[in-house]
Amino acid sequence: MRKLCLAMALAAPLGMMAQKIANPVPYANSISAEELKKHLYIVAGPEMEGRETATEGQRKAAAYIENYFKQLGLAPGYNGAWQQPYPVYQDSLVSASIEINGKKFQPFTDFYANLSSSNSSSFMTSEVVFVGYGISDSTRNDYKGIDARGKVVLVLAGTPPSTQAAGAPRRGFGMSPIMEAASKNGAIAVLQVQVGFPRRNASNRGSQYISGFRKTIYPNLYGISDQVAEAIMGADYATAKDAMKAGNPQAKTYAANIAVEFNKAVTKLESSNVIGFLEGSDKKDEYVFLTAHYDHIGKTAAGVINFGADDDGSGTVSILELAEAFVKAKAAGKGPRRSIVFMTVSGEEKGLWGSEYYSDHPVYPLDKTTVDLNIDMIGRIDPKRKIGDSTNYIFVVGDDKLSSDLRPISEAMNKKYTKMELDYKFNEPNDPERIYYRSDHFNFARKGVPIIFYFNGTHADYHRPTDTPDKINYDLMAKRAKLVFFTAWEMANRNDMLKRDIPLTMPGR
Ligand SMILES: [Zn+2]
Repeated sequence: MRKLCLAMALAAPLGMMAQKIANPVPYANSISAEELKKHLYIVAGPEMEGRETATEGQRKAAAYIENYFKQLGLAPGYNGAWQQPYPVYQDSLVSASIEINGKKFQPFTDFYANLSSSNSSSFMTSEVVFVGYGISDSTRNDYKGIDARGKVVLVLAGTPPSTQAAGAPRRGFGMSPIMEAASKNGAIAVLQVQVGFPRRNASNRGSQYISGFRKTIYPNLYGISDQVAEAIMGADYATAKDAMKAGNPQAKTYAANIAVEFNKAVTKLESSNVIGFLEGSDKKDEYVFLTAHYDHIGKTAAGVINFGADDDGSGTVSILELAEAFVKAKAAGKGPRRSIVFMTVSGEEKGLWGSEYYSDHPVYPLDKTTVDLNIDMIGRIDPKRKIGDSTNYIFVVGDDKLSSDLRPISEAMNKKYTKMELDYKFNEPNDPERIYYRSDHFNFARKGVPIIFYFNGTHADYHRPTDTPDKINYDLMAKRAKLVFFTAWEMANRNDMLKRDIPLTMPGR
């Protein structure tokens, strides 16, 4: 007793400046394994159908989160609404046909159209130009002596043998150099001979994307079978294939009456981020963000649900429990000084869409957002950790970047309260898994907001239907969520925002 009094007396002059931060433990204790489990069996349950972005399952998960935020007494965090909507586009094939000299070829049997890069169009023409590999750059020009303007070009798949030789400079041979060359030479469409026809599991549904606006419109790309190529080139086709192997296919113009029709529908869908807001006290115009993605990858092609319990049901339900803990603190008169924004985002599995959209359309100024603590997968144990390694661990990522305040606070809170091994493996600059770039905190980091990312590593059930709630270690997950809580508590209540004293470097993203 005496000792304590003495310590307090000595600390008093400093205490005038450094505001005493209330004890967070009673509120942290409301984060329980039982409640995390209860939420997770719903969020990662069959009714949510794998929570694929812009589907019914995702909307059900959003509604569950929204209802819980409402029930807690948070305020709606998006200009008076609970959800920040953003557009998602979805292509689907309506019809496609290719007719050559009166012979009609069928989609998926003889050809397919690249849905995402092609636009609805139809035309009839009487000439097709064959241009070998279809390359036209500083290394090679397959368009030499050919006028491809307004014409259909036919190319064969493959790379010139010279580029396969040992020691040859490495270069990419994806579609983009071929499409660029076709565009530069004025072609209206590209037919590329491909293998694998007929395509049995082909779908009329294309992938989703968020930006419907393109800088460059390329000619339409059609993958075609040998039969289609033969219908155009006749006996020359076999010769051309041999010439490809030798690296010297001869460009040539063929007469062929060809009619191409392609018609796709672009459906505008919508997805959303769910945002709950807890107003701070004397620093309410500064913000602590707590984030996790509530979307997952939906069903497999065979219709089996990917439950996404760890990825990222675990983060989602942790956000729910963190919100409850802060609400209880505020009700007890210990509310945070800074406002806290609880944001569960969607579109993560498609490419960090929800957080990208938020960070490009922020509701709270990013320069007043002191930190984003992002949780993505904290309910399991990485089997790649060595035998003898503690299971009492969490990978802490990004705490060495953007702010030199992050690590001391994170380590102090862990040392005082949760006592876990903080594993910094994924902070290695050459991390082959590039974990730092792979979840939603990255969209805050790229805008300069300091972040910490909490992650348990991957496992055999990652992105599989077997990522189910029964495999979660709820006690460990509660402990990890508490570390996030204590860290957020300190960051919300300390006098200063986190300083931004380390520039973000993005090596070859
Ligand atoms: Zn994932």
